[in-house]
Amino acid sequence: MPNWDQNKISNATIFLAGVGALGCVVAEILTMMGVGKLVIVDFDTVELSNLNRQWLFRDEDIGKSKALVAKEHLKILNPSVDVIAFNQKIEDIPDRIYAMCDLIVSSLDTFEARRWLNSMCVSVGKPLIDAGLYEFFGHVQVIIPGSDAACLECQPLIPETRLQQVCTLPGEPRKKERDEPKEVFPSVGTISAVIGGIMSQEIVKLLLGLGNPIGYLFYDGLSEEFTKLDLSRRLDCFVCGEKWKLDELRYFAEGDEKIGELRKRIALIYGLADPTMIVGTKIVDDEMSITEAEISEHALIFVIDATVAKPIRIRVVLTHNSV
Ligand SMILES: [Zn+2]
Repeated sequence: MPNWDQNKISNATIFLAGVGALGCVVAEILTMMGVGKLVIVDFDTVELSNLNRQWLFRDEDIGKSKALVAKEHLKILNPSVDVIAFNQKIEDIPDRIYAMCDLIVSSLDTFEARRWLNSMCVSVGKPLIDAGLYEFFGHVQVIIPGSDAACLECQPLIPETRLQQVCTLPGEPRKKERDEPKEVFPSVGTISAVIGGIMSQEIVKLLLGLGNPIGYLFYDGLSEEFTKLDLSRRLDCFVCGEKWKLDELRYFAEGDEKIGELRKRIALIYGLADPTMIVGTKIVDDEMSITEAEISEHALIFVIDATVAKPIRIRVVLTHNSV
C-alpha cells in the first residue's frame, strides 16, 4: 500500500461512543487493522433485536453490557489492541479521556447525545466522525474543529419536527428526555456495513493524513446513490463559531421581560430541549423579570442544556429599561 504507515495506526487512540450497528463495524475494522488503543463507551445492554446487525454479539450475550462484551470479543480478534471499556454514559466520561484520544467516533442512537458529543469534540478540539442509519439510508459527517467545515450545529440536519418534539417550553410540564422510551431507528446490517466502512475509511485517512475529509455524505441504499455536500462553518454557530468564542452572541431583551420568555426564545433559536439559565452562580427562575434577576446591561449569562457539553455564553443587551 503506497503511503501506508502502520506506526501511525498502531499509535492511535480512538474513542468509540456507542457500540451499536455502526460501532460494531468500526470497532472490528480498527481492531483487525491493529489500532493502538480503543476506548469504548456504551451504557446499553445487548438485546435480542440487536443480533441481526451488531455482529460482535451472540445469543449468550443478551442482557450483558455491550461495552464489556465488545471488549472480550475484540481481544479475541486481535490481542495486541488495548481495549478500554466503559459501561457508562458519554456525559459521565471526564474531559481528559476525550482529550487523550486522536479522534472520536459517534455511533449514537439519539440526536441529543450526538449534539452533546459534537459540543464536547469542539471543546477539546478533536475530530468527530458522526454517522446515522435509517431504514435503507445512512449518512456520515466528518467534523474537524478549527477547519472551514461545519459542525453538527452549524448546519442543522436534525429534522425540525424532532426539535419541536423535544422542546419543552415554559408553561408546559418539563420532561426528562432520557427517561422516555427510546425512539426506534430501524436499520439493517447491509447499510451499517456500508456506512461503518466509510466511517473507518475516514478514520484511516485522518490518521495517515491522506486525501480530504468528506464533509457530509448521504447514502441511498435503494438507488445506490451517494450525495456529497460541503457544509461550511458558521461564524455565529453557538458551538464552534468564532463569535461565540469571543462572547459576542448578543441577546436583545427588555428589563420587564420574564426569564421564562427569554428561556423560551433561547430554546427555539438553538433548538434546546430544556435550557437552564444561570446568572453568576445562580439558576434564575422563570417567574422573575430580567431586572429582578439582576441581569445588568451587557451581563454575561450562561445557558446549560442536555444537548451541550459546555455552557452557552450569551450577552444580554437591554433595549428598553422599564424601571
Ligand atoms: Zn458549528
